[in-house]
Amino acid sequence: MDEAPRRPRQRRPEVLGPMPSTKPTHRKVIIIGSGPAGLTAAIYAARANLEPLMFEGIEAGGQLMLTTEVENYPGFPDGMMGPDLMKNFREQALRFGTEIVGADVEAVDLSQRPFRMTVDGEDYTADAVIISTGATARMLGLESERELLGHGVSTCATCDGFFFRDKPIAVVGGGDTAIEEALFLTKFATRVTVIHRRDELRASKILAERAFANDKIDFRWNATVTDVQGDGKVERVELTDTVTGETSTLDVDGLFVAIGHDPTTGLFAGQLDLDENGYILTEPDSTVTSVEGVFAAGDVQDHVFRQAVTAAGSGCMAAIEAERWLEAEAHSAG
Ligand code: NAP
Repeated sequence: MDEAPRRPRQRRPEVLGPMPSTKPTHRKVIIIGSGPAGLTAAIYAARANLEPLMFEGIEAGGQLMLTTEVENYPGFPDGMMGPDLMKNFREQALRFGTEIVGADVEAVDLSQRPFRMTVDGEDYTADAVIISTGATARMLGLESERELLGHGVSTCATCDGFFFRDKPIAVVGGGDTAIEEALFLTKFATRVTVIHRRDELRASKILAERAFANDKIDFRWNATVTDVQGDGKVERVELTDTVTGETSTLDVDGLFVAIGHDPTTGLFAGQLDLDENGYILTEPDSTVTSVEGVFAAGDVQDHVFRQAVTAAGSGCMAAIEAERWLEAEAHSAG
């Protein structure tokens, strides 16, 4: 975990990839979102001659753009920097003819076909839509946390736990994710301290009991992380007691922020069935959503695995399902 790349904060001035050049702005398939799910869907859809158009968003590339070394993506035995991996995905999607537009979708109308999208004030229509807008990990909102992201601060134990062998670490949060991550991290760390802002876990009883019984896990109750400190990498965190207001420090090499994720589904609320946490509901073993012709892949519909490889897998599924659905529609129309 070195050289943490930074998420571009400003709108990128250049469009990477050809703009949708000429009218008409109707496409067989439009893909919204450009993480591993969207770009894999693009590769498969392009290779199926569906000539997909992708709106990659202003913050293109998804969560891997915020990571450093990725060591668990199959096919790269020496690991790969997250942004480099996404660049490869993107080049592969372009190679087969995907059109990529570096803009956010402003509005969608999935109530009638063709589906309609507004981008930079212009309307586009599509017979099928693949949604792969992902999710973002909630952060504490500290400047120091942002600065040390990828240098000891992480939002994914499965991805980064391995970097903390024989080191003390902390996990912030009291939900199922935090406790599951804390349990997983005991495989590597010498000590895992769970920092929770209340004196009671939100996590399910079974996970909580497993954590209480684990010698490597201890708890700092009624505490919030108010600063992450270290010279270029995490060395300690400052804690503030939520009851007394007293501050203290805890020496750790890593801080895992596990306070929940927010799926990027604001555009689709009221148009697609979402679960109680805002994730798009898909049919079992499928990317089919509640609206025929609309498919969802990756973290926007998966709050369980949240891995680049599973997102890529579901992106492949979405393209194949979109292709089969379009084929069936063409048959029934003709
Ligand atoms: P969550 O259930 O929303 O829990 C978030 C935790 O972070 C809560 O304990 C919350 O504290 C804390 N928190 C939130 N904002 C904070 C802040 N700014 N500073 C400090 N702490 C903060 O999220 P999750 O754990 O990611 O789980 C999401 C959903 O997935 C849940 O429905 C969960 O059951 C499910 N899930 C299930 C499993 C499983 O069954 N194995 C595994 C993972 C996730 P408070 O408690 O004080 O609100």
